[in-house]
Amino acid sequence: MNKAVIYARVSTEEQADNGKSIETQEKICSKWAKDNGYQITGIYKDEGKSATNLNRPALKELLSRCQDLGDINAILIQDTDRLARNTLDHLTIKSILKKNDVKLISISQPMIDDSPEGNLIDTIIASVNAFQSQITGRKTSKVMEEKARLGWYPGGLPPLGYKNVDNPSPLSTLDKKIIDFDEQTASYMKKVFEMYSTGNYSIKDLADFLNKKGIISPRGNKIHVSTLNNFLRDKFYIGTFTWKKQEYKGNHPHLIEKSLFNKVQLVLDSHNQYASRKRKHNYLLRGFLYCSECGSRYWAEKHKKKNGNIYDFYFCSSCKGSTYADVYKLEEKVERIFEKIELSKKYTDHVRDTAMKILEDNRRNQDSETRRLQLEKSKVEKAMRETEDDRFVHKTLTPEVFQRIYERYENELKEIEEEMKNVNKDYSQGLRILEKILSLAENIGTAYKMATPPLKRKYLNLFFKRFTINGDRIVKYALSNDLKELIENGSVRVRTSGLPDEDSNLEP
Ligand SMILES: [Zn+2]
Repeated sequence: MNKAVIYARVSTEEQADNGKSIETQEKICSKWAKDNGYQITGIYKDEGKSATNLNRPALKELLSRCQDLGDINAILIQDTDRLARNTLDHLTIKSILKKNDVKLISISQPMIDDSPEGNLIDTIIASVNAFQSQITGRKTSKVMEEKARLGWYPGGLPPLGYKNVDNPSPLSTLDKKIIDFDEQTASYMKKVFEMYSTGNYSIKDLADFLNKKGIISPRGNKIHVSTLNNFLRDKFYIGTFTWKKQEYKGNHPHLIEKSLFNKVQLVLDSHNQYASRKRKHNYLLRGFLYCSECGSRYWAEKHKKKNGNIYDFYFCSSCKGSTYADVYKLEEKVERIFEKIELSKKYTDHVRDTAMKILEDNRRNQDSETRRLQLEKSKVEKAMRETEDDRFVHKTLTPEVFQRIYERYENELKEIEEEMKNVNKDYSQGLRILEKILSLAENIGTAYKMATPPLKRKYLNLFFKRFTINGDRIVKYALSNDLKELIENGSVRVRTSGLPDEDSNLEP
């Protein structure tokens, strides 16, 4: 029998509200468990003041039970607002549970449990979060970009032979730190370039040479072959640097002549022993591709052509030879298929409602949290006034005792004010996230394209079971059971015009 625990939460403010009492939550969850064949093996409750705090003791205990013991299959909650304070908490908790194979079942709101709908919403929300951090990343890089344009290396640690130093006469905040030779290592690095250019040494020989001399990398490590390989490829030594895929002319001094650098590149190319290791590709479609001829699974591989370039391929693990398919072409074709997936109006409305609900819950939570904090604040302020009276009017406190008590109150006040700030931050972040959720829900194709590789894998898992491949062509695609369910209940539509055939003869 499936084992489940109930998690219930009620804050001081909510206790008067009958719909939310701990007993009601327990009753609703227990009834559901009985109807659905779950045995309740525990009840976790956060009540009163602790229920509004971030560190809810019962929830913490429950999560660590899931992680350590693994003796339950599901957590029952009356409503998702019982569990998490905001979207981010919600996603974090969900991912902990998922990792430990614990289902989250929200009784009065089946939307955000482990159903396909719930998973799709989570995935969209996760895309938004990833996107959000991309935007903030871009903002901070504006200054860095300016720095790079002016020739000041914004990349942090320079390669071996250089170091960051204080500029004796900076012109702006951008050139407070500049790059100069590191006397300890510069001459050794120059020597390494010279030795390597002769073709008589391997990179390993030279790494050993540096290690024997006691030279350590700018990060403080032993010099590894791969690190040294990167240094030898780095145009930093001839006065330029690459930052965010763009090359800039730097203000730092050259360590070596361009001719020596070029010679080293030629030797590197002919040895080329690490070039193939350097290139990493996230074979997104691994595990999804099957051969149309023999049904075997496709594998992914790198291939070096005669011209020295490296290509990524998917190919049939048993037919091999004729089945090599270009990784990028296939991945693009899959993007095309994603573009054909449409969420119904009904479903996007559903997404919107859910997101709104999460946000509203946040807001309500925020309001009550703010009220609670204000109350606490005025209590502390009152206590401070009384202490002042005791000291100066009634003269019942010595200066030392007064000092001690007063300081404690001041610290409490500071903490409360800090907490208030955090509460406000949550909400405005939520609003921005909501907008993004809506625009993405309306366009799964874009959501997929924008996603980071791990998220793309999530989308693929959510929507597809497999693609049948013939060379570069997708012959058939098979939808995941989740997506089939979403299509059946009218949440999702796949426009099939211009698509390969759907493969519906698969074993479930
Ligand atoms: Zn095959």
